[in-house]
Amino acid sequence: MFNTRIKVKQLLLAETVGQQVTVMGWVRTFRNNQFIALNDGSTNNNLQVVVELGLLDDATLKRITTGASLKIVGEVVESLGKGQKVELKATTVEILGDCDAEKYPLQPKKHSLEFLREKAHLRFRTNTFGAVFRLRHSLAFAVHQFFNQKGFVYLHTPIITASDAEGAGEMFRVTTLPFDNTPRNADGAVDFSEDFFGKSTNLTVSGQLEGELGAMAFSEIYTFGPTFRAENSNTTRHLAEFWMIEPEMAFFDLEDNMNLAEEFIQYIIRYALEHNLDDLTFLDQRLEEEEKQKPAAERAEFGLLEKLRFVVDSQFERITYTEAIQILLDSPAYKKKKFKYEVGWGIDMQSEHERYLVEKHFKKPVIVTNYPAHIKSFYMRLDDHCEPGKQTVAAMDILAPGIGEIVGGSQREERLEKLQARMKEMHIPEEEMEWYLDTRRFGTVPHAGFGLGFERIVQFVTGMGNIRDVIAFARTPKNCEY
Ligand code: ATP
Ligand code: MN
Repeated sequence: MFNTRIKVKQLLLAETVGQQVTVMGWVRTFRNNQFIALNDGSTNNNLQVVVELGLLDDATLKRITTGASLKIVGEVVESLGKGQKVELKATTVEILGDCDAEKYPLQPKKHSLEFLREKAHLRFRTNTFGAVFRLRHSLAFAVHQFFNQKGFVYLHTPIITASDAEGAGEMFRVTTLPFDNTPRNADGAVDFSEDFFGKSTNLTVSGQLEGELGAMAFSEIYTFGPTFRAENSNTTRHLAEFWMIEPEMAFFDLEDNMNLAEEFIQYIIRYALEHNLDDLTFLDQRLEEEEKQKPAAERAEFGLLEKLRFVVDSQFERITYTEAIQILLDSPAYKKKKFKYEVGWGIDMQSEHERYLVEKHFKKPVIVTNYPAHIKSFYMRLDDHCEPGKQTVAAMDILAPGIGEIVGGSQREERLEKLQARMKEMHIPEEEMEWYLDTRRFGTVPHAGFGLGFERIVQFVTGMGNIRDVIAFARTPKNCEY
């Protein structure tokens, strides 16, 4: 039986001095044939195990190599060394799995993130990725706790979808049709009636539309699931497969929506600060060292912990799109022609613009609202009383320092005729959307919601620069290992 073991985190926390315990884990380092640093993933802190001279024969000692797995029975004693309060004095050491030190890719030294990305199947065993993925777990747990406490219903929206009207991005097709001898109609087009579902289907880009149906019954729902976008953007913030959290609330307007999003982001960050301070402190130091390598002008203004505490304690800035454009037009950056893309009312702001607003101008998260209708989705509510030629919608994006957009949301168009007119304008076939329009026909209500890219918030909280380093096995263009 294995389950009598104590986890390293527990052992280091508790008053265990004097107890006989069994621990299991992987060797990080073995020094002087005497000191094993053992890690079992429960914490970033290794357990120091002391193997007294003469306890083990030479053959066994040789097998205690970095990466090997061990079962150790011993007594917890106060540590004389620096860096830890307690250590384990081994009475028996059993090797569960050998690890050939010559072949093991993880040497006891610092590896680059790029190297570890190639070894993603082993990188959980490093300090950095241990911290990142424990934090990812905590944040996911906090997401559920937040919505559960507020009485939201967790709705599992489908992953395979027949609806392609969302328009949030390029979709991956789901099909069982053969590539050769593909069934075709008289006009040569692929005959999807022969396909598995009898129609053309895709992987979902968003659960929002289905989420709205849930909100029209439960008042408040959220989804938290995988989302797929076949967009060919090789950036540090885009994945082809990512996880999205999408709450949808009846009886909410744009302001209620912003309030919820802000409270939500602060809640999950506070949760991480309260439950994962060890891991955050490790990442804070890691980032500080990384920053030191950069030229002074490019260094981040805040350390990681400082940034997180600041975000939790201060209100997000709220400005309209129109105000945002004016700030850009008035900026020294614009006057000195520092922006690559043009600035003016009606543009879809580029990441350089968003970064200017967040990192240079406000130096904190910013919520931008009331975007021009023509750059936003059909389901966003048309604002009343707009200047001629400047029709806006009740949309809101939350922009974060270092990441850019982390949330995209809106109040939804609840007025049937207006929604139908918008769909016509945007060439969205109504026949395929009758089920969606029914919510506006039968007891429609003002409602709102948003989507938060989970990996983007994990990036923000861990300070990891590349989104590929905050998901276990990243899927990006031309890359799908494991
Ligand atoms: P972006 O402009 O950054 O591409 P978007 O406008 O396409 O984002 P939405 O369609 O509003 O984003 O999606 C909601 C949220 O999902 C975004 O705010 C972002 O946090 C996240 N997101 C969008 N696309 C991706 C992606 N390819 N990988 C990871 N997260 C994403
Ligand atoms: Mn996008």
